[in-house]
Order: sequence, then C-alpha cells, then structure tokens
Amino acid sequence: MARRKKIYEGKAKILYEGPEPGTLVQYFKDDATAFNAVKKDVIEGKGVLNNRLSEHFMVGLATLGVPTHFIKRLNMREQLVHQVEIIPLEVIVRNVAAGSLSKMLGIEEGTQLPRPIVEFCYKDDALGDPLVAEEHILAFNWASQQDLDDMVALALRVNDYLSGLMYGVGIKLVDFKIEIGRQFDGDFQRLIIADEISPDSCRLWDIKTGEKLDKDVFRRDLGSLSDAYTEVANRLGLMPQNKPTTGPKLVN
Ligand code: UDP
Repeated sequence: MARRKKIYEGKAKILYEGPEPGTLVQYFKDDATAFNAVKKDVIEGKGVLNNRLSEHFMVGLATLGVPTHFIKRLNMREQLVHQVEIIPLEVIVRNVAAGSLSKMLGIEEGTQLPRPIVEFCYKDDALGDPLVAEEHILAFNWASQQDLDDMVALALRVNDYLSGLMYGVGIKLVDFKIEIGRQFDGDFQRLIIADEISPDSCRLWDIKTGEKLDKDVFRRDLGSLSDAYTEVANRLGLMPQNKPTTGPKLVN
C-alpha cells in the first residue's frame, strides 16, 4: 500500500492526506503533553478514547445543526475530516473559574461565573498561546469582525450542547477549548468546528465529588488519565459493556 502523505504532526494528533480532495485523515496519538510540552508521557489508549469521544461530540453537534469537520470514524485511532484553514486562535469558553483565569484574576478555582465567558488565545507555541483581545485579532487580521461574531456564536452553542450532555451524566463542564476553521465552497466560506473535542481540551468535574475527569489529572499528577477518560466514555455509554451472557433457558 502506498504510504500516506503526512500533512502535519502536532502534540496529540497527526494529519494525513485524505482519500478525496478537501479531506484529511486525523490520527489520534497516545502522547500526552502539558505546560507547552514541558511535561510529556505516553498514555496507552488515550488516542482511542479521544477518537471515540470526539466523534460522539461532533456527531451530536451536527445533529443540532452546528457544522463540524467530522465526516466519519475510520478505525480505532483515525477519523475522516473535512480539510479547513484553521483560524490561528484557540477559543475558550468558561462556566466556572479554573486554570489560567483563576491565576490571572485571583478567582478561586470552582467559583461559578455569572455567565459563560469566551476568550481568544493566539495559537503560537513559542509565545505560549497568549490571551488576546478582539482589538489584536482585528488589527493583525487573524479574523474579521464577522468571523469573531460567528466564532462566539459557535462556541456558545458548543457550550450549551456539551454542558447539557455532561450534566446528564453527572459531570460539570468547567471550561473547554475549541478550534475553528474556514471551509471554502467557491467564493463562499463558512466557519466550522475543527480539531477535536475531548477530555484533553475540556475541564470536567464530577458533580457530586468534584473529582477531575480531564487532562488536569495528568497536568497535576492526580492519578490515571486513562481511567478518568474511560469513566467519561463509560458514563456516556460509549464503552462496550461486558454483559453477563444469559445462559440457556430451561424448558419444562
Ligand atoms: N486548553 C487546551 N489547550 C491549550 C490551552 C487550554 O485544550 O493549549 C483547554 C484546557 O484544557 C481547559 C481550557 O482550555 O479546558 C482553559 O484552559 P486554561 O486557559 O485555564 O489554561 P491551562 O490552565 O490549561 O493552562
């Protein structure tokens, strides 16, 4: 079989050329990184879990009319996606204070925010993905005002969907990051959700116990990351269940 052309390799995923023009194959690695790749490890099975979880979230969003790059899952570690031009901004939505927001403004982690807050960070590893204002985005032409309005609307729709889904399985969606891309159709472009949505890019806390079920388990050495992600997949009904086999029925 001909070797596939690698288009891009990131910290947690590899993109290969897809079978049709305008498509890519997204491969989920087991590599975990944190603090801009200063902390690294290989977590067996993480890629498989994130591939399945991201599929589940993207399919759910599509059924609500939120456009995503997801086409179909190909196997345990790969999915077929639409090729997009990634906007160089991380879009973060926060419902509860945590992480960099708590640090920056001195707000205790776990404080409920009065409304969801949408933030933009400029995607640049060398600079540590700095938080930027709309003024920077417009001045440096990373996105237009229309793009920004569309990105906020998309991010808030993802927040409503994911918060509700997680609440239904006893998990609080604290915050998450998405990436958005431009899909071109002739002269027209539309913005769609790209990259992945998984516990690598969300903060998920058990509603009852406060237990963390996301990448903070790895960042803060809180236990097994694959156990945490498996718990999320289990609650969402995505893990194959080993049901006890029902034996033969005795016929009288
Ligand atoms: N996040 C991410 N990738 C990044 C930065 C943040 O997926 O490069 C996610 C992170 O997992 C969390 C949310 O975005 O769910 C907000 O992260 P925060 O700004 O608090 O940064 P952190 O504390 O993770 O450095």
